[in-house]
Amino acid sequence: MSKDDHYAYRSPVTGEVFRPHEDLRFQGLPTFLRTPLAQTLEDLDIALVGVPFDGGLTARPGARHGPREIRNQSSMMRSVHHVSRIDPYSICRIADVGDVRVESLFSLDDAIVEIETFYRALHAGGVVPLSIGGDHSITYPILKALADERPVGLVHIDAHTDTWDAFQGSKFHHGAPFRRAVEDGLVDPKRAIQIGIRGAQNFTEGWDFSAAHGMRVVFIEEFARLGVDAVIDEARRVVGDGPVYVSFDVDALDPAYAPGTGTPEVGGLTTLEAQSLIRGLRGLDLVGGDVVEVSPPFDPSGNTALVGATLMYEILCPLAEAVAKDRV
Ligand code: MN
Ligand code: MN
Repeated sequence: MSKDDHYAYRSPVTGEVFRPHEDLRFQGLPTFLRTPLAQTLEDLDIALVGVPFDGGLTARPGARHGPREIRNQSSMMRSVHHVSRIDPYSICRIADVGDVRVESLFSLDDAIVEIETFYRALHAGGVVPLSIGGDHSITYPILKALADERPVGLVHIDAHTDTWDAFQGSKFHHGAPFRRAVEDGLVDPKRAIQIGIRGAQNFTEGWDFSAAHGMRVVFIEEFARLGVDAVIDEARRVVGDGPVYVSFDVDALDPAYAPGTGTPEVGGLTTLEAQSLIRGLRGLDLVGGDVVEVSPPFDPSGNTALVGATLMYEILCPLAEAVAKDRV
């Protein structure tokens, strides 16, 4: 199947053939990264998924609006990466499969089942997901679907370890997905690295859980001391050759770069540091990823959504290379 067969489309009015990645970026419907809206999983390698759900938030709301704004800002992204020269669209068939339709707006437990069900169907179809949240609670049901057969390694970039226990009586919230995932055997804690951690907490439970289970926690001070390249080396050492999931919470970035998020923490990563980290994951056996916690109501300039879209594209490049390699 040629690149055109998958990505080009014909105007129903004039019959002209359009190639969305060559089109004017302000035209057309805003799917994720200007990919086609999938009608079937057949012949698809990578699914771009929106999860407009923020029922797991503990502080400022709004991440449910993330997918729509990131679809819009992602129109700005182009094809060929300027460092790696990867063109994900020429090595994989990628499409926007729409949103997970979470009907259980008022029940976190049921919503998590709905999200898991969606990803199980995607996984059964042999399609690798790259998702946009939504709050970070969505990563737990995603991992339940993807890591059923074997635990995965984890590269988790965030201000928070998200290994906390129950909050206001719920075990499922955006501060707990990786605790639940480790408890369920979905993430191998010895193959997990958490990068960018910072910010005062009222108690140390989450940090303690990560340390006690052998997760490699890189607080922002260690990141600053080591530098990006040494942290990439450490991440590659920790996750090794096995399957790896990448989860990027936009609050890992300093709020100077990404103010539109629910739980901002100053003193964070720059956008270039974050991009460099993701570029350093090239060659790993990546099995999926997500960008979460973009909250458009706190993002009046739209810049946080642009950052989220850019991170999505950055993850897509090494992910597409990994998926293309697996397909051969
Ligand atoms: Mn966070
Ligand atoms: Mn998080």
